[in-house]
Parts: sequence; structure tokens; C-alpha cells
Amino acid sequence: MHNTIESSRTNFGSDAENQNTAWVRWSNSVERFLAAVSPSLRDRTSAAISSVNNGGVGLRNWVTAIAWRNSYLPERIPNELIEVYLVDSDALPQHECETCGVAIPVRVQRYSQDLDGRNAYFAACPICGGRTGWYLHHSKLIEQGERRQIESLRRLKPR
Ligand SMILES: [Zn+2]
Repeated sequence: MHNTIESSRTNFGSDAENQNTAWVRWSNSVERFLAAVSPSLRDRTSAAISSVNNGGVGLRNWVTAIAWRNSYLPERIPNELIEVYLVDSDALPQHECETCGVAIPVRVQRYSQDLDGRNAYFAACPICGGRTGWYLHHSKLIEQGERRQIESLRRLKPR
């Protein structure tokens, strides 16, 4: 009897704990994100992140990618990368820079799939000048990983 109550309490506690951990992770990421936004845009960005309009969806996607998918957060986010979301509430961070990996906003057309970058806002990364496009950074990392794997397999091969 006592045990059952204890264990159900423990389960309930760990659920709440998980939720709490996720919330802490999210709020920490929002905090780190806002610290990288220039002070002149920080209040509007913060308001947008907690809103369903005004670019909040795109900005929240970006913070989510930073919090859970290890997306690159630059020390200082250029204003133009933030302003796109504040001006275009349909903008989503679906491109990225091939070189530094920062997420790049694109204008998402509701009824068409943009796969050729026609709706890209930035042909070059405003941070480092690298090429931007769909998953360029990740495909480059995978390519490098594969090359490294092939090299280590070669090394293991008996001669
Ligand atoms: Zn870059």
C-alpha cells in the first residue's frame, strides 16, 4: 500500500521533472538567443517569440533548433537576420549557411514548395559570406564524416 503510493508519487514527480527540464532548457535557450540579439531589437524579438503572430513561429523554430537540434547560435546575430522574421511572419529558418551553419530565414509560400531557393532572403550568409541553402551545412558535415569513416576503414584494412 505504502509502496504503491510512493511509486505513483515518484512517477508523477518524474513527469513533472521532465516537463520542468524541457521548460528550463527552452527558457535558457531563449535567454542565450536574446543575448545574441542586438539591444535595439531585443524587446521586439522577445515579444515576437512569445507571440503567435509577428514572426513568432519562425523565431521559435530557430530557438527550438538551437535548444534541441544543436543548431549554431552565433555570439552576435546580425540585425538583418532578425528583422526578416519581424517583418515577414511567414518566414521560417529553413536554409542554413554552408560554412558556419547559422539558420537562414526563407519566405515560405503556403501553397508551393520552394526547393530552388527562389524565396531565399540571403544568397550569402550575413555573418561569414558562406553559401546558403537547404541543409547545406549538415550535408557538408555528413560528407566530411563519411570521408573520415572511409579513411579509418582504410587504416583498419589488413595489408
Ligand atoms: Zn555563415
